[in-house]
Amino acid sequence: MPDIAVWNKCDNRCVMCTNMASFPAQDSGQYSLEWQIRKMERYLRGLGKTYLKNADDPGFVSLTGGEPTLHPDFFKLISYFRRRLPGISITLLSNGRRFSDPGFARRFLRAAAPPFAVGIPLHAGTAALHDRIAGVKGAFAQTVKGLGNLLAPRSGPEVEIRLVLHRLNIGAFRGTLAFLRRAFRGLRPYRVTAIHYEIEGMSLENHARLALRLTDSARAIGAAADLIAGFPDLRLYHFPLCLVPPALREKCWTTLPREDRCYPAACRRCRLRPGCPGLMKEYRKAFGAGELRPLCS
Ligand code: SF4
Repeated sequence: MPDIAVWNKCDNRCVMCTNMASFPAQDSGQYSLEWQIRKMERYLRGLGKTYLKNADDPGFVSLTGGEPTLHPDFFKLISYFRRRLPGISITLLSNGRRFSDPGFARRFLRAAAPPFAVGIPLHAGTAALHDRIAGVKGAFAQTVKGLGNLLAPRSGPEVEIRLVLHRLNIGAFRGTLAFLRRAFRGLRPYRVTAIHYEIEGMSLENHARLALRLTDSARAIGAAADLIAGFPDLRLYHFPLCLVPPALREKCWTTLPREDRCYPAACRRCRLRPGCPGLMKEYRKAFGAGELRPLCS
């Protein structure tokens, strides 16, 4: 099932956003409730290529943006997708800010019948750094409050807190993990994903500020292994296994489609290759493949 861009506007201006600057500038008419329903009905009837990303993966749908919760018919859309995709896992990707309104969060919790997940990025464990990366003062307070509102009930959609790692926040990684432990203690379980940033859209435009090698990202993760051990479900995305300390390799997941990843020449003789995500193609363009350390024995 596809990635569906629900809405093209966003109230954050994240420095590492993977959308192009032209995306929010588009007319939002093509994201209206009517258009979204028309597209999905065409897709379900197999009437041609309707969605660009992951359209052939049958197991799940991702609702993305922009910021989907800003859609004027957000709840109607959630109800429609839930009804028309029974049993399909739906993941909503959001900056979480609108969930700071308790009424909005309660309404969402009622509409998001399982299997349903919501993924929300947290850029840092302090308002100053999170807001700097999000490009909006006050974003941190709203996102943290939103997460709290989603995690307060004993049941509800799965919540995934996404830590997208780049040069601006890698030095704060330990502090971010420590903040999570404090801020959401006693609430229901959630997942943490630490994701090496992807180089596309605004992230590519801003790359001079963001550039971070996988080696340095993996080193920071290794240095936080004691804190990582305190999270029952913490996953690492986009890391070649050879760069991650052996004890943390079981936490690495492959999430990007095959066409976005590569296995350079060094990988041919590596015994880790069968379970390895390899290298992101855009990363290889920016940094090459010289960091890889194949395990050959
Ligand atoms: S050398 Fe290649 S296959 Fe082996 S762990 Fe590194 S990226 Fe993966």
